[in-house]
Amino acid sequence: MIKFLWIRSRHKWFVLLAGLKVGGIPLWRLLIHDFSAFTFYEAPAYADRAKHDGHIRDRRAWAYAWLHHQNHCPHHWEYWTFAWHSLSGDMNFYNGIVENGCLEMPETYAREMVADWMGASRVYTGSWDLLDWLNDNFRKMQVHPSTSRIVLKTLAELGYIYDISQTFCRAKHIAKHIVNL
Ligand SMILES: [Zn+2]
Repeated sequence: MIKFLWIRSRHKWFVLLAGLKVGGIPLWRLLIHDFSAFTFYEAPAYADRAKHDGHIRDRRAWAYAWLHHQNHCPHHWEYWTFAWHSLSGDMNFYNGIVENGCLEMPETYAREMVADWMGASRVYTGSWDLLDWLNDNFRKMQVHPSTSRIVLKTLAELGYIYDISQTFCRAKHIAKHIVNL
């Protein structure tokens, strides 16, 4: 339990630092970031994972906790995503509102999501640098096209450029940017 609180607090601290750097996120939201991980629904699974150095032993418990987390924290893109079968009726009804199965993520939550990635990177790899992680994961995310644009704009502000081959590369000033965080 102590390890869980330590890891979660460190994560929250790094998300706070990253969030101040990313900007556009109210301080109160950075302070309550990931609050649901401390609830009865999630804490036991998070604590068990922390106790075993990040290994998930009880997959069922983790799956319930993780889905609960995604459904209660709007800084996760999954929060804004419809399961297709729940979009009953004619998809045209949602035309322009739901795209790619998703609602638009308000910019402030999209920015908090980027801060979350940075905070997680800092805790789990010791580095703020998202480059490899972005190249492995960005294209797998299901988001509204406008969310995608906002995230790419936010990442560009941090020095990650998404090029024509859909690969992230580092703008020249990024190393300094990240080291100075
Ligand atoms: Zn979270």
